[in-house]
Amino acid sequence: RELVVSFGEMLIDFVPTVAGVSLAEAPAFLKAPGGAPANVAIAVSRIGGGAAFVGKLGDDEFGRMLAAILRDNGVDDGGVVFDSGARTALAFVTLRADGEREFMFYRNPSADMLLTADELNVELIKRAAVFHYGSISLIAEPCRTAHLRAMEIAKEAGALLSYDPNLREALWPSREEARTQILSIWDQADIVKVSEVELEFLTGINSVEDDVVMKLWRPTMKLLLVTLGDQGCKYYARDFHGAVPSFKVQQVDTTGAGDAFVGALLRRIVKDPSSLQDEKKLVESIKFANACGAITTTKKGAIPSLPTEAEVLQLIEKA
Ligand code: ATP
Repeated sequence: RELVVSFGEMLIDFVPTVAGVSLAEAPAFLKAPGGAPANVAIAVSRIGGGAAFVGKLGDDEFGRMLAAILRDNGVDDGGVVFDSGARTALAFVTLRADGEREFMFYRNPSADMLLTADELNVELIKRAAVFHYGSISLIAEPCRTAHLRAMEIAKEAGALLSYDPNLREALWPSREEARTQILSIWDQADIVKVSEVELEFLTGINSVEDDVVMKLWRPTMKLLLVTLGDQGCKYYARDFHGAVPSFKVQQVDTTGAGDAFVGALLRRIVKDPSSLQDEKKLVESIKFANACGAITTTKKGAIPSLPTEAEVLQLIEKA
């Protein structure tokens, strides 16, 4: 049993054709398929692992295009359902000249928010070795209930639960609501990954020192990770903790690096679950995940830049 089942949103980012402009200044946009949980599923599959995606798309041209992207990348789309009344979610995203990321979402509501618990592919979820999710699917009903039910089904069937909150402040009614809801499912997860920004958002402290990270640790967890961009990441398990540096690459676009990292790590964990208890094995797996994240930053877009296993091993050997 090595399947990674990823739950949540898949959508299309529209990204300006030129760099460093505001959304209003952008002369034109390119379609960039994404959605963190979908990226994770494709990352797992690209490096040779079994992956499935569970979520809802609009029964429209874009929704069918996204489902085809999953299949073309070897991801089982048996958990995808289509909504005839709502559109596939869209997001306009730009990295402005001042370095700030600007988002504009079209979700009023979008199909992903309308997934119901009754529409879950229970048999597929029960096959998961790891069940992975974010927090965007917690924002609105009925998807929130479907998300919580899917977590229960996976846990009962013996899966490890993996959580990358993937904070998108603009989607929540308030910062307080975002924090409360993101933390409401904190204790269920076996594996949690946060970025530096999320660590600060959740703890209120701008530091990645161990005592700050430990505020997010729970005794029920098996692994807590803090990703640090080009600095690699820090890891915390019950009996050990440490840091693993990343690899030097020519960074072009960081979109999807976190998802590539998660996908690669989950693939390694389902292949050899003992790496969660064995620090040496875990560090090797994190190194692999760092390399996967690093390569993803060297090309534009998330999905097109996710590497194969051979590419990851090549970067590790070269270093
Ligand atoms: P995202 O932009 O997808 O939300 P994130 O903030 O969750 O990403 P990052 O810390 O940016 O995650 O990246 C994840 C991992 O990818 C890092 O822990 C690191 O190993 C690798 N990585 C990211 N950027 C670079 C870089 N410029 N050079 C080398 N490795 C990188």
